[in-house]
Amino acid sequence: LRIFLCYSTPCLSAGAQQVRGALEELIRERDLAVRLEIVATGCMGPCSRGPLLRLRRADGDEQIFERVTPELARAILLQALELAPPQVAPLDPDLPFFTRQTRVVLANSGWIDPERLEDSIAHGAYAALAHALHEMTPEEVCAEIKQSGLRGRGGGGYPTGVKWNLVRKAPAERKFVVANGDEGDPGAYMDRTIMESDPHRVLEGMAIAGYAVGAEQGYIYVRGEYPLAASRLAAAIRQAERRGLLGSRILDSNFNFRIDLRIGAGAFVCGEETALMKSIMGRRGQPVPRPPYPAQKGLWGFPTLINNVETYANVGPIISRGAEWFAAMGTGKSRGTKVFALCGEVVNSGLIEVEMGIRLRDIVFEIGGGLPDGGRFKAAQTGGPSGGCIPAQHLDTPVDYESLKELGSIMGSGGLIVMGEGSCMPDVAKFFMDFCMDESCGKCVPCRVGTVEMRRLLGRITDGSATMEDFATLEQLCELVRETSLCGLGMTAPNPVLNTLRYFRDEYLAHIVDRQ
Ligand code: SF4
Repeated sequence: LRIFLCYSTPCLSAGAQQVRGALEELIRERDLAVRLEIVATGCMGPCSRGPLLRLRRADGDEQIFERVTPELARAILLQALELAPPQVAPLDPDLPFFTRQTRVVLANSGWIDPERLEDSIAHGAYAALAHALHEMTPEEVCAEIKQSGLRGRGGGGYPTGVKWNLVRKAPAERKFVVANGDEGDPGAYMDRTIMESDPHRVLEGMAIAGYAVGAEQGYIYVRGEYPLAASRLAAAIRQAERRGLLGSRILDSNFNFRIDLRIGAGAFVCGEETALMKSIMGRRGQPVPRPPYPAQKGLWGFPTLINNVETYANVGPIISRGAEWFAAMGTGKSRGTKVFALCGEVVNSGLIEVEMGIRLRDIVFEIGGGLPDGGRFKAAQTGGPSGGCIPAQHLDTPVDYESLKELGSIMGSGGLIVMGEGSCMPDVAKFFMDFCMDESCGKCVPCRVGTVEMRRLLGRITDGSATMEDFATLEQLCELVRETSLCGLGMTAPNPVLNTLRYFRDEYLAHIVDRQ
């Protein structure tokens, strides 16, 4: 019997350590150590139901238990060993939350101990790197990634293979590979979970990228608020170096590749690639105008490949299973799967991975189980502070890059917040504007001053003191800030306002005092 206990941030904060303590105590008391193994894993998915515990018997039978307390853990173990009558019911394995997902990036999440390299290797880690190094040229690796149709999972959706080829072809003495793990959107924790649950998958993707573009040095930049992800990555880097999977002459090839960890200091704007590079170089993390793009002139002036953590996590499976396998998933120009942090007013909140093109309705009502107490759906917010709200009339929209953009939102990095009919949309826009105002780095006037002014006007609208003139000024400011800001943070800060205005204009007008 193997016991898998989720040891990622949500379950740890719900008491997973105490559950483990109770299980270990019981194992000692009953002298069960030879029959049992406890595996402290990464995320199993339904985070709001944590701590989660999964049992797997030798015959392959599996059961998942939710909201496990130390007392429940003892009862679950005793009933599994038939030392006590059944008392605790497992989760239904046929819940759409489990059956409607397609797990590629999260395939090992919840199954492996992220702190044990052997566990990752037993689940296929570094096989793709070995294949790339010994059986493919860098050109072939880039071609495979391009053919797969993989696009940047950090929000931009730029074709990954095209970016890799740009860096590969750039003539330079040195090149760099960077993984952007500075995830900061409210409600989003996809990258944190990937780094916490399967760090070797990210490191392997970076090493394959380094081989493909001709870089010998990589940096993984992790948000300062993610200490568990950072410590697991640091341990994973050390383990991989000791086993010859990173460092010099990797896997007996001529390829050298080191990865260093960089921890952010809590600025959202450092997720913007030019600010991120400055931070890695030890300077103040503020954006600079592009071009030149990092692929031409990045870290210390050398060509630099920057991809999001989830993008790198897709690389190993594509190299192992082939571009065609990956491209067969999804729709149109959106191929593969996407990880979402499903949260807000939804029964099953947690981390999910779905095939691109799935309908929003299926995510909210099947995987998510709908709104609590039969509540009515009003909108789903995607893309964080750069995104927008998708209203009920578009619930049948396929979730892919183009469809979400057409609706005035974006895929973003994968935050998906469900809102019920009680949500006030100007208030939602104010929440995101508050966030952008706080996180503006202050370098350019439109964003530094514009976000404060837009926040002030949204405050007047939500407290019922705004006039039609305020409303008109807000709309003008949205256009101005969008057109004239220096970086993506300012350019997209008006999006939640513009998007909610597009679908919920009447709701704004209902707050205005002189609307007649
Ligand atoms: Fe800084 Fe905002 Fe200007 Fe970006 S748009 S450089 S975050 S002030």
